[in-house]
Amino acid sequence: MSGVEELLLSCIRDVPDHPEPGVVFKDITPLLADPAAFAALTDALAGISVRTGATKIVGLEARGFILGAPVAVRAGLGFIPVRKAGKLPGATLSQAYDLEYGSAEIEVHAEDLNAGDRVLVVDDVLATGGTAEASLRLIRRAGAEVAGVAVLMELGFLGGRARLEPSLDGAPLEAL
Ligand code: AMP
Repeated sequence: MSGVEELLLSCIRDVPDHPEPGVVFKDITPLLADPAAFAALTDALAGISVRTGATKIVGLEARGFILGAPVAVRAGLGFIPVRKAGKLPGATLSQAYDLEYGSAEIEVHAEDLNAGDRVLVVDDVLATGGTAEASLRLIRRAGAEVAGVAVLMELGFLGGRARLEPSLDGAPLEAL
């Protein structure tokens, strides 16, 4: 494990049975409160944006906003929020996706993603991959290209990588 990986890992707190019994919540607030760790994470994610040739950063609500926005500033790229349904004020594209029980919907302002854009999706945790997969559909439906997906953590036992693979269409999924 590299020094950066060790630093990041040491700043993530496992919270058992949150928000419901059986879930181990990966709390990144200690990392956000540590300026060296937050800067190292931002640098690592900005490096991925450069390597993948991204021209825009999409952040997934809500922790993808906290991580993605400084990456966009560091890389000199625009930041596009993908929000839960009903939050964005302008004309949106929406994408529904299945949860274990029920379904959810995410949206993006239609004018924010266009043909010619190469988009890196940033979030904190890849779990089942449902949210990230829906975001890739939104990006493609807007006519933009997927540069990749970059997350702080991947919960491998939930199979998100396999679920995402077909939608990535060869683009990288990088978990720090
Ligand atoms: P999924 O769509 O199942 O990949 O879930 C991803 C979203 O849910 C991300 O935006 C995460 O912030 C959040 N999430 C899922 N599982 C966890 C967990 N164990 N700890 C923290 N966040 C989680």
